Amino acid sequence: MPRVAALSTPSAGAPLEPTTIETRALRDDDVRIDVKFAGICHSDIHQVREEWGSAIFPMVPGHEIAGVVSEVGSGVTRYKVGDRVGVGCMVDSCGECEFCKDGEEQFCAKGSVATYNGRGYDGEETKGGYSQQVVVSERFAVRIPEALELDVAAPLLCAGITTYTPLKRWDAGPGRKVAVIGLGGLGHMAVKIAAAMGAEVTVLSRTLAKKEDGLALGARSYVATQDADALAGLAKSFDVIINTVSANLPMDTYLRLLRPLGVLVNVGLPSDAWTVSPGSLVGGSRVLAGSNIGGIPATQEMLDFCAQHGIGSEIETISAEAVNEAYDRVVAGDVRYRFVIDTATIAVAVA
Ligand code: NAP
Ligand code: ZN
Repeated sequence: MPRVAALSTPSAGAPLEPTTIETRALRDDDVRIDVKFAGICHSDIHQVREEWGSAIFPMVPGHEIAGVVSEVGSGVTRYKVGDRVGVGCMVDSCGECEFCKDGEEQFCAKGSVATYNGRGYDGEETKGGYSQQVVVSERFAVRIPEALELDVAAPLLCAGITTYTPLKRWDAGPGRKVAVIGLGGLGHMAVKIAAAMGAEVTVLSRTLAKKEDGLALGARSYVATQDADALAGLAKSFDVIINTVSANLPMDTYLRLLRPLGVLVNVGLPSDAWTVSPGSLVGGSRVLAGSNIGGIPATQEMLDFCAQHGIGSEIETISAEAVNEAYDRVVAGDVRYRFVIDTATIAVAVA
């Protein structure tokens, strides 16, 4: 079985280091993808550091994968060698349940298979995109439109779809006021996509340090959440709030910013519980919702939407040796706005 260079962590919280891993021999419906770029999502850090409970080690993270098809299985119909493709957070699902049939594979009744830190239906541990190759079923690859460069497209495979899904579901568009909490990887994509959908966007960030960027990304206004008066002044302002923060927030404070019938959609995944007063929801008949990535058809739709609107991620490309420092910088909020690993720089002799 082909061995390829990858970045792997041996145990919870240990640094990522170059190694080689085995990729599976192609099944009939598999494509082998030469990974060119892999985005660093905060979810990678949560899992490497075992912040979501027990994880599978050694772990090769990465679910924002952009690359080029280098080999196809005998039954592959959708892709050919040379096609530009992406892979996101899932690599398999049953294909037969009501959710899979609806193209909502993330809700698969049998449980969808995570791109890494998961097990395939064959029991094999899955390995992600911080690697020079991945092998996945063609059903879980999406086409990257020519208008998008692979490096700025990679983060769309998680940050893009995770924000596109709730913005679409909750009707971000002309005449709707949308706030985005946290201007990081997901947050900056939410701003770009909501603005492209025609909504009036406000960024709620801890400080005004990134204000110029936020406005350039398409926000109409930008408020520091550390400024309690400014925040209170936004009471009953928004139809939709997307919370992308990776740490716990005082939810009642933010629920107050919703107009009647408004929705606060949480996509951030800190490990601690929140508290919410019932009155914050009942007053104004507000909705507190969650949202989990998006299905494969929606991921393709999102990529096509982004290509049409000239939307890529704002990235800082790094070499493999900078990955551990990049993790610390993401946790410190020092990223504008997504680190992307150039996988060609994973330096290790492949036997
Ligand atoms: P990120 O790039 O680190 O962005 C998170 C942002 O939250 C930061 O840029 C910062 O924005 C704000 N923030 C960070 N720490 C904070 C704190 N202590 N208090 C208040 N604000 C804080 O992370 P990401 O990759 O966008 O991911 C965000 C979260 O979404 C993670 O928990 C991740 O696991 C989760 N996620 C969920 C899904 C899903 O399907 N629902 C998919 C992917 C990721 P400011 O500096 O602007 O304040
Ligand atoms: Zn992610």
